[in-house]
Parts: sequence; structure tokens; C-alpha cells
Amino acid sequence: MDEREQRLAQNEALFREVNERVDAIAHKLGPDVPYEFLCECANADCTFRITLPTSVYEAVRSEPTQFVLLPHHFTPEVEEVVVEDDTYWIVRKTGEAAEYVERLDPRSR
Ligand SMILES: [Zn+2]
Repeated sequence: MDEREQRLAQNEALFREVNERVDAIAHKLGPDVPYEFLCECANADCTFRITLPTSVYEAVRSEPTQFVLLPHHFTPEVEEVVVEDDTYWIVRKTGEAAEYVERLDPRSR
């Protein structure tokens, strides 16, 4: 993994950290209540939000290499799209970026 790929993966891992905190709050409202999460794309300047029920967010988090983004926010060098919904896409990290984000996963620490 080169430096750029690492930076991209790091950005996504950082958004994930924030979303884990959002999820802790959203969880209290119940699994079907939509809540605003951050777009977890590789662009550190992305400030867009995605409205998701926590049940979808939990499904994303069940895999340490998965991230949730706004449609078309994915970075083909480091990930592949696994789910294309109208309002969000779920991507999976590939190659060394996958191992890297797995190590950073707050749920496996
Ligand atoms: Zn984004």
C-alpha cells in the first residue's frame, strides 16, 4: 500500500470513529429510526451526511472492511462497491487497505 492509499484508508477509518459515537446516540432511539451519519468516503474534506436507520449502519459495521458512503463517493483504487442503494452505497476495502482498516476497527480492539 502506498502513502496515498494509506491516507485514503485512514480518512475513512476516522469518519468511522465519529460514526461509532453517532451510533451510540442513535441506538437509543431504536433500530428503525433514521439518523444522520457522516459519509465515510476517502475524501477528508467531505462533510456530507447520510441518513440511515441504525439497523443499516450496524449491517455495515458487522464487517470491519466495510464503509458507508454517499452514492458515487467511492475510490476505486482502494475499495469496491457491494451495495448500491438510492441514498447510500456500501463499499468494501480491498488488498492492503482492507488489512489496514481492519487493524483500526474500533470494534475489534
Ligand atoms: Zn463523501
